[in-house]
Amino acid sequence: MARYTGAVCRLCRREGDKLFLKGERCYTAKCAMERRPYAPGQHGNRRAKVSEYGLQLRTKQKAKRIYGVLETQFRNYYETAAHQKGITGENLLVLLEMRLDNVAYRAGLGRSRTEARQIVRHNHILVNGKKVNIPSYQVKVGDVITVKEKSQSTQGMKNIIETTASRSVTEWLDADLENFTVKITAKPERDQILIPVEETLIVELYSK
Ligand code: SF4
Repeated sequence: MARYTGAVCRLCRREGDKLFLKGERCYTAKCAMERRPYAPGQHGNRRAKVSEYGLQLRTKQKAKRIYGVLETQFRNYYETAAHQKGITGENLLVLLEMRLDNVAYRAGLGRSRTEARQIVRHNHILVNGKKVNIPSYQVKVGDVITVKEKSQSTQGMKNIIETTASRSVTEWLDADLENFTVKITAKPERDQILIPVEETLIVELYSK
């Protein structure tokens, strides 16, 4: 699956919000949003009036960038969410949260979603004992994610766990990183999905 490969800090500056795309750097003074908190480009720090459509569009772009999903796939998530029971915007966020790469990131098996995606892609992750290397794989309640035995002792994995150990893990996951195991205990509720996105704006945009 294709993904954005440009300079990621530009994406945060474009959206005017910290999207935490770079792991530990995002928590330091080196963060580009701390140093240059305005849009990139020649006219980036001009204050422009944003239309209703512009706000909807920016919100959708922000969500796509946070989860590292491109337009076609994001649109597909929306269509699936719209056909599910319940509130479309919330369904959309739940689908994004239950991607395997996001779950690995939330559990601490990656310092950023990009790193977690790489961990999945490079065959380090098992779901219910079977190798899964598809970052968009949808996990289900009851699934157990483990790190492949051979990968547990690598320096790369040790560094990741050491860095993420102090992070609090979301309530719908039961992460035991000492044993490289994560269990999905529930579907996330909206208030457990901590992202700076008002999903109703995305629904408004796509339902035009
Ligand atoms: Fe965004 Fe992280 Fe770059 Fe800061 S360091 S601008 S939060 S990606």
